[in-house]
Amino acid sequence: EQRAKVRGIVHNEIVDLAISCNQMADQLEKVESSRQQFVSNVSHELKTPLSSVKVLSESILLQEDVPKEMYVEFLHDITSEVDRMTAIINDLLTLVKLDQKEIPLNFKETNLTQMMTDIIKRLQPMADAKYISLQWDASKEIHAEADEMKLSLAISNLVDNAVKYTPEEGTVKVSLDADHQNVFISVADTGIGIPEDEVNRIFERFYRVDKTRDRETGGTGLGLSITHSTIMMHKGSIKVNSKEEEGTTILVRIPLKQPTTHG
Ligand code: ADP
Repeated sequence: EQRAKVRGIVHNEIVDLAISCNQMADQLEKVESSRQQFVSNVSHELKTPLSSVKVLSESILLQEDVPKEMYVEFLHDITSEVDRMTAIINDLLTLVKLDQKEIPLNFKETNLTQMMTDIIKRLQPMADAKYISLQWDASKEIHAEADEMKLSLAISNLVDNAVKYTPEEGTVKVSLDADHQNVFISVADTGIGIPEDEVNRIFERFYRVDKTRDRETGGTGLGLSITHSTIMMHKGSIKVNSKEEEGTTILVRIPLKQPTTHG
């Protein structure tokens, strides 16, 4: 009887082990397929501007007596395609750095009110150019433990998007608050909004709601994945509320203190 019991236990353990192995294999398959997807997306994103550059330069080369205006126009276009590729590569390098988990974030006591004020100041001209009212109330001074450089870029992406995807004369409202444990940052706009069935996809790498719409605004589709990774590394959370034609609100929460540096 004893032997049968032992055999039963061993059997159960083998079954558990087999299940774990299968789960691990599934996981690895998912990682591998998302890696392949990522590489294929990167290649595609870089190929498009490269093809444009080739077409533009060839059309100058193949034509005799090119008028000066055409030269200037085409060189302008080439420059903006090169700028686009540079933006993509810079975003990719940022993402790769964030993915290297062994490089720890540089957590320090950070004055978030000051950080946000600086972000708003930098993006003010972009809002002014579209007659957008960029509202920010800096009355409360809030501090938290954060990697200021990375968090600043993450929040900057949100405000940048809010201005980018809000038509002229709209409003972008940024706020900062805290309770005993968390800091809350919200960025609300009166912009074009995100379709309900796509809200969950906007943090994916290279994901853009409407490809043609975004080509004009010059985005890379990487900004929000950088923001998402950064907030996760701060042990926080990020939520999106959006309604098409009405606007989008992004809510970020990060803890006041980082658990890793405090036992
Ligand atoms: P991009 O560089 O294209 O802005 P992001 O990763 O920052 O890339 O955003 C992904 C997509 O999510 C954008 O292309 C846009 O379609 C959508 N999006 C992001 N923020 C907003 C917003 N505030 N309002 C409407 N759409 C947004």
